[in-house]
Amino acid sequence: MLRQIVIDGQVYVYELSRKRVKNINLRINHDGTIKVSCPARTTIGEVEAFMRAESAFIRRSLAKVSYRKDNAARPSTYVDGEKVNVFGERCTLHVNTGFPFKGLRFVYPDIYVNAATPEQAERIYQKWRREKLRAKIKEMLDYYCPMFAAKGVEPPKQVTFRTMSTRWGVCTPSTRKLTFNYNLFEAPEEIIAYVVVHELAHFLEANHSERFWAHVADIMPDYKIRRKTLREY
Ligand SMILES: [Zn+2]
Repeated sequence: MLRQIVIDGQVYVYELSRKRVKNINLRINHDGTIKVSCPARTTIGEVEAFMRAESAFIRRSLAKVSYRKDNAARPSTYVDGEKVNVFGERCTLHVNTGFPFKGLRFVYPDIYVNAATPEQAERIYQKWRREKLRAKIKEMLDYYCPMFAAKGVEPPKQVTFRTMSTRWGVCTPSTRKLTFNYNLFEAPEEIIAYVVVHELAHFLEANHSERFWAHVADIMPDYKIRRKTLREY
């Protein structure tokens, strides 16, 4: 059930579930929701004392979530002046609903969308975003595939795109297919390149073994820094 607690004047909403666990456990999800599980007989007083003791951790984790959300900067309202990310660069969306011709023009750092309604602006923006990402990934595959060819990897037979909530890319070696997350559009190019290399390396090793990472490092020696930054998106 959802409960509230006030710590240092700040209200936190958390979901409490009683389970067959030994201790009180606290988890902050990727989206910033707080989940607490505790043994059946634990009192609310005990749960709250535990949360107060962990308040620094809660604050830190939530700050990371909001930093990440801010970093990702995907448009949500499609109103004039909204901040969005284009390959890691902060840009401004200008929506002009009074204009007779619909369309999109990108003059860094400004994106001008002419549309009759915010819904139409969304469709125009999303179409442009998908096309831009597809072109970017193609460019990167053209660059990295020859490097993998030297390791005996043939280029993928199929490259598809989807919006996924938990994965940036998927490699299906049996069908030689790669799938990329549309949400990569907001990430910097060096991060997208890391995802491309990561997925191509799965054609060599369909796991995350030491051998897999050695292949990644061969092609991209600084992959660890990029991988760490990816968590912020
Ligand atoms: Zn992987």
